[in-house]
Amino acid sequence: MSETTTDAAAATDGDAAPLQQHGPLGPHARRMRRSLNGDHPGQVGTMLPPFIDHHVHLQLGDADAWVRGGLAGVVDLGGNPATVAAIAGARYLPHVRYAGAFLTAPGGYPGGRPWCPAGAVREIPSVSDAATASHAHDALPGAVTAAVDEQLRFGASVIKVALNATTGPVFDLPTLRAIVAAAHAVELPVAVHAEGAGMAALAIDGGADVLVHAPWNERLDDGLVRRAASAGQAWISTLAIQVRDDADAAAVAIDNVRRFHGAGGRVLYGTDLGNGDLAEGVNAAELAALARAGLAASDLVAALTDPWPAVPNPSDPVIDGVATFVPGEPPEASDTDAVAAWLATGRIVPTEELEHA
Ligand SMILES: [Zn+2]
Repeated sequence: MSETTTDAAAATDGDAAPLQQHGPLGPHARRMRRSLNGDHPGQVGTMLPPFIDHHVHLQLGDADAWVRGGLAGVVDLGGNPATVAAIAGARYLPHVRYAGAFLTAPGGYPGGRPWCPAGAVREIPSVSDAATASHAHDALPGAVTAAVDEQLRFGASVIKVALNATTGPVFDLPTLRAIVAAAHAVELPVAVHAEGAGMAALAIDGGADVLVHAPWNERLDDGLVRRAASAGQAWISTLAIQVRDDADAAAVAIDNVRRFHGAGGRVLYGTDLGNGDLAEGVNAAELAALARAGLAASDLVAALTDPWPAVPNPSDPVIDGVATFVPGEPPEASDTDAVAAWLATGRIVPTEELEHA
């Protein structure tokens, strides 16, 4: 093996490479020019991987507007599985991944909510109750695996669990762990809505892969935050809805995200599109709040372009031939507020329309 090959191998080894191997916007940022035909001929800007909102509800919103607003991918985190699967299958953009139905305790959230679509909730009895009932061996795994398998058959990439202690019953720890085990057995991650005192801790103890909202009800103690980060849990931000609805909750959520990110936690950009009045597309308020939580420019890009729940493929970050194009010169990376506002102007462009500038 030649010395050149050895050097090249060392340069691509993440552990051996220098810390700042890439630019301030991450490894995939490229200065590009739009080709001379098209709507914006010759415009110079930055190409980034496609932007993804990791928390939306397609049944409650207008996905065409989201595409016009710069989103190339979305993750639907709860709806009628047949309806969501049909929407996903019929669209080119945004590229859709989805959870299917909400799994919840009998009588639990979001059943009965006025916004909750028909057929969007699956109630699962406690495995602890089933274990003490007669015919325990038949009843115990049945309801959990049936609910997980149903979402899998509809094409789900993730299982959504609701733990909302503020409005109704929630799963106990054994039932949550049984759901996580059943989902992991078919290689699906579990994403949890954790609301109310102790619910984030329950989700973390139960092995949830993702919290669908950065915790906003209570300040998590440092030990719990570190445990979530070191377990590899990811948090979907949804800070703009807190900023919109409750300044105190927003401050709590931003503080939790700051410490989670500081502990190495994986932060995913998401807004809960479909949940009331929100920017249709890339949301400047969400990015500004993430900047307040201490995310650097490259962290903001990473949160927007993380392919979760798909597995990252660093050599091919493009979805279906489209990329994000952010027009104009990028602001100084140290001015994260300006970077956040600039990123929110990103739009979807076919990669064939871009050439090196
Ligand atoms: Zn939601």
